[in-house]
Amino acid sequence: MSISEFQYDGETIVIGSENWKEWVLSADPFEGDFDDSQHLSDKVVKTRKATQLCSDCLSICEPVTYSRVITASEHGSLITNRYCQECCTAMAFDDLHHDYKQYNDDSEDYPEEEVMLSDLRHQVRTANEKLLIKELGKQYFNLSPATLCQVMSKAGASQ
Ligand SMILES: [Zn+2]
Repeated sequence: MSISEFQYDGETIVIGSENWKEWVLSADPFEGDFDDSQHLSDKVVKTRKATQLCSDCLSICEPVTYSRVITASEHGSLITNRYCQECCTAMAFDDLHHDYKQYNDDSEDYPEEEVMLSDLRHQVRTANEKLLIKELGKQYFNLSPATLCQVMSKAGASQ
């Protein structure tokens, strides 16, 4: 599933536009988490190379799509979280507007059913995580981003 634009409040929001970026950046992906991290940078960029999985759904952040990159300092070390384009859109709209819904074309049983974008992302994450555990074991998150990307691209995982 990939969305290139959508309507909100009578306005067309195009993925990648300044408007869209503003929506995305206004959502806090760490909301509710207790951490002492400090954001050093937080921006939406065009992905150039597939180097990292999405921190939310564990899909590869594909080249030419947008992703949000947050660099933070946590317990003295630098961590970089990357969020794929689809999760960025889900993040913004589910955070700020709980009424934004998307029809689920992939559902064979209930194609007409309205689903929250964040629910769809969650389903993608569940499937991707299963795959990573099967290939790399339960400690997969300790492996390098490059290794994880390799496994996911070989598996042709969903996004
Ligand atoms: Zn994602």
